[in-house]
Amino acid sequence: MLKKQSALLKKGGKTVKKIGSKLSPNTKHLPDHHFKLVKVKRGLSGLGLFAQEPIKKGELIIEYIGNILNKEEAAKKITCQYLFEINPNKTIDGTPRWNIARYCNHACEDAANAESDIKKGRVFIKAIKNIKEGEEIVYDYGEEFVEEHIAPHGCKCIGCNVRKVLDHKS
Ligand SMILES: [Zn+2]
Repeated sequence: MLKKQSALLKKGGKTVKKIGSKLSPNTKHLPDHHFKLVKVKRGLSGLGLFAQEPIKKGELIIEYIGNILNKEEAAKKITCQYLFEINPNKTIDGTPRWNIARYCNHACEDAANAESDIKKGRVFIKAIKNIKEGEEIVYDYGEEFVEEHIAPHGCKCIGCNVRKVLDHKS
């Protein structure tokens, strides 16, 4: 059983939100779910997550947190875009706005500068390239998600936009 936990989210040193819902387990070992300074703002494809300081390759940026769902609960929310399946019996529903990591947009593999990393039942967004201050943080959501939610409208990530321009020229 998960205990209800309460924590304060800090953003740029200022407390912005109080969390009274279930978080991923073991959060008490971390002072915060932010490891790096990030900011939500409008980017090329709607709201995105932007680095507010340089981030080195391999560093953890943010944890993907949310309400923990079991198999049955997750099955009821199958169309929700923010579900992150850890294993068949545990899914993180990252819909709440206090899950800042949900603003991290998709980019196809070659254009991604981060990746999602599952460690001990928790999900972290980790840099796979050096990220400059002000750069948008993007990671590959994976084939299944792309096929279901992105491909029908056409991918608008940085990598695909560059490819479109190149195709047009050739
Ligand atoms: Zn793409």
